[in-house]
Amino acid sequence: MTLSSDAARPRPVNSVDRTAFRDMCRAFARREIEPRWREADRERRFPREFYVAAARAGLIGITADESVGGAGLGSYEEAIAMEEMSRINPNLAVAVLVQNVAGSLLYEHGTAEQREIARRTVAGECMVAITVTEPEAGNDVQNVRTTATRVGDEWVLDGLKSFITLGGEADVLVTLAQTEPGSGREGMRFFAVDRHSPGVTATQIDAYVNRPAPTYRIAFDQVRVPESRRLPAGFREIMAGFNRERIMVAARWLGHMHHALEWAIEYARVRHQFGRPIGANQSIAFQLAQCHVDVEAARHLTYHAAERWDSGAPLRDVILDVSSAKLFATQAVVRVTQAALHVGGGWGLTEELPAMRMALDALVAPVTVGSYEIQLRAIAREIGLPVE
Ligand SMILES: Cc1cc2nc3c(=O)[nH]c(=O)nc-3n(C[C@H](O)[C@H](O)[C@H](O)COP(=O)(O)OP(=O)(O)OC[C@H]3O[C@@H](n4cnc5c(N)ncnc54)[C@H](O)[C@@H]3O)c2cc1C
Repeated sequence: MTLSSDAARPRPVNSVDRTAFRDMCRAFARREIEPRWREADRERRFPREFYVAAARAGLIGITADESVGGAGLGSYEEAIAMEEMSRINPNLAVAVLVQNVAGSLLYEHGTAEQREIARRTVAGECMVAITVTEPEAGNDVQNVRTTATRVGDEWVLDGLKSFITLGGEADVLVTLAQTEPGSGREGMRFFAVDRHSPGVTATQIDAYVNRPAPTYRIAFDQVRVPESRRLPAGFREIMAGFNRERIMVAARWLGHMHHALEWAIEYARVRHQFGRPIGANQSIAFQLAQCHVDVEAARHLTYHAAERWDSGAPLRDVILDVSSAKLFATQAVVRVTQAALHVGGGWGLTEELPAMRMALDALVAPVTVGSYEIQLRAIAREIGLPVE
């Protein structure tokens, strides 16, 4: 399968009643995320049983084809699931996002052996992680320095990755490396590396965000990987698929901002000062009214991008929609959670209210999977500006 930017892309093969699907996702989030996330957040420990529960509920591999146990649905349904889970907690939700994105690299681009890993991921038996970023290669992915050197039927990987979500929990690290140093992205390939291989070390990074789904530094020291674990597809083809991740990121923050707004509205109704609810003051009420528009605008942009993605249109025709949705949702979630924090006043800054946690969680939104500037650059190019 080719994913060049001019080629038509595959469309979903199945469909569902979307209202019933949303209800199922909401019930799942209440049952499996609500009782778990606070303790996991405090302990900075990912509860693996949540991954297994998500797989059993059919939320891993939503867009995967049925041959690997997937549901064959579209990114629209995947966005519904992400939004509903994130309304309870965006950081356990991101674990599902990572499984779906890393898994899709294997089932969309992999060999039979690599698709078998994806089948196990969908079944809840094998966690995977996206292993791209490095200390010196953040947004500039083409600067990846981890090397893969061919030795007989194997490759030997050396290098250091950073910010790998669930890198210490995953069984397989879908890792980008240079196979021909000096040839830029043409010389880059992905490898499905067993995390338990000799020479792989995972060290947790002490981040304020994403806590129940920790991020790790991953060191590769002379790690031997069989040739059968090298994904056949090239860098451009695989990276193009990361645009779908941007839609899921938008849906993640849509769910989070919706939750923050609901909380702020309720607090503004029940918190009294000067003998009336604080929400009776126009300054507070108008701020929350503005947040409502942010949430609805993010909703429209996110699901519009998902629909365009599922239409099968060539990538070049959907990039503008995808980047617009990702940019807007990741900006809006910061505005909405800051407003919620403001409404919370002094109590908002304590652990007695959820406002600070929500605002802190939102700060990662503009950073991952292409920052504000990277989305703006993509949008500027698409509207015809001669940006590099
Ligand atoms: C919590 C968390 C989880 C993550 N999970 C994963 C994961 O699972 N797998 C993975 O591979 N990676 C992951 N990442 C990495 C993430 O996707 C980003 O790529 C990375 O954090 C950004 O790189 P950096 O921090 O080195 O920032 P830099 O790239 O150094 O950017 C710093 C600043 O410079 C700006 N900037 C950079 N280039 C330009 C430019 N050309 N024009 C204008 N401004 C520019 C950026 O917008 C940013 O504001 C994660 C990161 C975090 C924080």
